Amino acid sequence: MDIKLRFLGAARNVTGSRHLLDANGAKVLVDCGYYQERDFRHRNWDPFPVPPETIDAVLLTHAHLDHCGLLPKLVREGFQGKIFCTAATAEIAKIIFLDSAKIQEEDAKFKKRRHKREGRKGTHPYAPLYTTEDAKACLPLLTPVEYGSDTSVAEGIEASFHDAGHILGASMIKVAVSNKRDRRTVLFSGDVGRWDKPIVNDPTVFNEADYVLVESTYGDGLHDDAKDISDVLARAIYATHKAGGNIIIPSFSLERCQEVLYHLNELLMENRIPHLKVFVDSPMAVSVTEVFEKHPEMFDEKMTELIRGKNSPFRFPGLKMVRSVDDSKAINHIKGTAIIIAGSGMCTGGRVKHHLVNNISRPGTSVLFVGYQARGTLGRSIVDGAKEVRILGRKYKVKSRIIQVHGFSGHADRDELTRWLSGLKKAPRKVFVVHGEEEAAESFARHVSETKGWEVSVPEYQDEVVLK
Ligand SMILES: [Zn+2]
Repeated sequence: MDIKLRFLGAARNVTGSRHLLDANGAKVLVDCGYYQERDFRHRNWDPFPVPPETIDAVLLTHAHLDHCGLLPKLVREGFQGKIFCTAATAEIAKIIFLDSAKIQEEDAKFKKRRHKREGRKGTHPYAPLYTTEDAKACLPLLTPVEYGSDTSVAEGIEASFHDAGHILGASMIKVAVSNKRDRRTVLFSGDVGRWDKPIVNDPTVFNEADYVLVESTYGDGLHDDAKDISDVLARAIYATHKAGGNIIIPSFSLERCQEVLYHLNELLMENRIPHLKVFVDSPMAVSVTEVFEKHPEMFDEKMTELIRGKNSPFRFPGLKMVRSVDDSKAINHIKGTAIIIAGSGMCTGGRVKHHLVNNISRPGTSVLFVGYQARGTLGRSIVDGAKEVRILGRKYKVKSRIIQVHGFSGHADRDELTRWLSGLKKAPRKVFVVHGEEEAAESFARHVSETKGWEVSVPEYQDEVVLK
């Protein structure tokens, strides 16, 4: 059996997941992600390493941009096969493709204007990486599959999708390659979620696989879950209400926003917070929440019970979903404390900037951070304690309370990744550690090799290995 596997992204870095399987004369690509790290973003512009028209099928683990964000480009450059994913992933991916295309189009325009003003020339053309038209061309190729069932994706290649416990619809994918004599399985972890996360099921554990690709975002660390999310939220909301200010929660539209609503709903049901107006002020978050509501079959037991008992976290009293700009502006005139959840998660764009402008210099208000803040972002400078920040071209003194709520994470930590691998009853022929910064990936590879004695490697970008 000769299967070739090429690592075309998320190899010694986190974003741009792309893995190409070449077997039985067919090519199957697992994920086609966008590079988000500054140092690697130029790769988004490179021609695809193999002609896209020669790829038979794409298997998509989930709808995060770093896993699906280059599909519109792949399709524009000639890919015509099916993109297999769960129904929820397909629906969320549509929202992500169109949003990303709009950002690409705006970026191209903005860059052209700026370079003209500065009298210089950029390294990339001023055309967008892909357009709304390119994004739309992907949509008919999205082919929904159900969790747990085997799907033939190319000659002699079957794939099955399984709950990843990461975001709604996210999958781990097991690929089986067979010929007349042999059969080999390759397990792609996608992003490994967490046990006991709200809304979604726990990660699926597998008891056998010949080869495993495992992510390692937090492969060298352990999550600090000591502080209970609900307690921190309740205290912050209670105190801010007493002080008479608003509560601003910068949040990602996909999964984190819905998790925050889940916690608020729980606190309300337990009477641990006052009944306040809650706004989800983000058209994208509103659309994504609608996809959640359409897929109750993907919810875990606790969430299913809530929905059955008419206690949906997406429908509690006082919750308002805001799409239009007028309704968003109207939030400024609300009297009394309001909880405002808005994007972007790191305050780099979106409506949250306007809410920060209106609230950050008011001593009674609170800004609650529920996600990781990358270096160089507005969110990061606020959590780092800046006394003054620049928002939309003007300076504002930071007088509101800044609170970081730890414990929200979509990714398994080192021990949870180990727990996931430990389902395997016998040593795989090889484990490839991907989707982590170099140190995290190497540290996790060492951990697996020392604790289990398995053969492990951390592939480089563009490496090709032959799976026997
Ligand atoms: Zn993800």
